Amino acid sequence: MNTADNYQEIRNAIRELCSDFPSEYFRRIDEQRAYPEEFVGALTRAGWLGALIPAEYGGAGLGLTEASVIMEEINRNGGNSGACHGQMYNMGTLLRHGSEEQKREFLPKIAAGELRLQSMGVTEPTAGTDTTKIKTTAVKKGGVYVVNGQKVWISRVQHSDFMILLARTTPVAEVKKKSEGLSIFLVDLREAIGKGIAVRRIPNMVNHETNELFIDNLEIPEANLIGEEGKGFKYILDGLNAERALIAAECIGDGYWFINKITKYAKERIVFDRPIGQNQGVQFPIAKSYVNIEAASLMRFKACALFDSHKPCGAEANMALLLAAGSSWEAANVCLQYHGGFGFASEYDVERKFRETRLYQVAPISTNLILSYVAEHVLGLPRSF
Ligand SMILES: Cc1cc2nc3c(=O)[nH]c(=O)nc-3n(C[C@H](O)[C@H](O)[C@H](O)COP(=O)(O)OP(=O)(O)OC[C@H]3O[C@@H](n4cnc5c(N)ncnc54)[C@H](O)[C@@H]3O)c2cc1C
Repeated sequence: MNTADNYQEIRNAIRELCSDFPSEYFRRIDEQRAYPEEFVGALTRAGWLGALIPAEYGGAGLGLTEASVIMEEINRNGGNSGACHGQMYNMGTLLRHGSEEQKREFLPKIAAGELRLQSMGVTEPTAGTDTTKIKTTAVKKGGVYVVNGQKVWISRVQHSDFMILLARTTPVAEVKKKSEGLSIFLVDLREAIGKGIAVRRIPNMVNHETNELFIDNLEIPEANLIGEEGKGFKYILDGLNAERALIAAECIGDGYWFINKITKYAKERIVFDRPIGQNQGVQFPIAKSYVNIEAASLMRFKACALFDSHKPCGAEANMALLLAAGSSWEAANVCLQYHGGFGFASEYDVERKFRETRLYQVAPISTNLILSYVAEHVLGLPRSF
């Protein structure tokens, strides 16, 4: 399988780390709906979750491209980066838009594993994908912002010390463009939970810790505003592009995992006196999903390279996610189908990875919204909303 790229050292190191956390580990964690503490701890101690933090703040100083390879390899080795990918793109937001003071305070501690910045609170129950319609407000009073509202599907809140929160600081009626007047804040979850934020866990199809948040008169110190007040939507979009490219990489990792798994099985499983993989009806769908994963991977590298050189990458990050999530789902179906009944048995891990990779056609952004972005922002078709 093609891994001939410039990142072999990273790939080898992640593979070695992942060998201590075999499929049985992730299967057990999935069955228990638990958090992979030991795995995330090992990744943090080895410095991988601080990959994007510059060396001057104690991190590895790598780019999004390398970060994407780390995420890809975790999934390719049977793990699930969803438990920890938030840290990568959230610290990117802090790094690009935070003040020097904030960076000096938080980044070295994140790099050392003393602090976790794994959560991002954007989605709301009534606004859905229409983010500029969020109803959570932050009103400046004295030295603090007082926040009220509700968020939904906010992941890893119970395994994070800080969260990046998007809230409206100027009412829509008072701004020229609806994307203005939104701001982002660093919320200290250790203080806020139980004192301004109530958390309700949402049981769901995958082992993904995600929650509803009820925010009631939460006080955030002014010093925790990231960047300029009112420009938060622009900042969060930067973070969302990084998130899309990283999750594309995870899907690519999943896709390779499915293809590897079914290729091996199709060589071994004998039915009608020959390996099932000798039938073209079985070979072609596997080959096709491999081709699509390889193509998606190229778009992922393009998106990451643009991000790393501070060039616009919205179109490429979105396209990479669409292609990667689509092809990993295609590979998942192929893998399940040609395992026959065994694909449904938990001990084969196929059904677990099948559920995990399905998420990425809906979150972090649904495929329809990506197509709408490409149609309207890349091709210039009339706006539909
Ligand atoms: C497990 C999980 C974890 C998540 N973690 C986080 C997190 O940590 N932080 C966070 O902020 N959010 C998180 N999310 C939220 C996620 O980003 C949203 O669920 C996703 O963006 C889709 O938004 P929605 O659920 O509000 O769907 P809606 O906006 O309600 O859309 C519903 C459906 O309608 C379609 N649709 C809507 N409008 C249009 C249109 N104009 N044209 C065509 N189709 C349309 C959409 O494509 C979608 O399929 C998570 C979600 C899940 C499931």
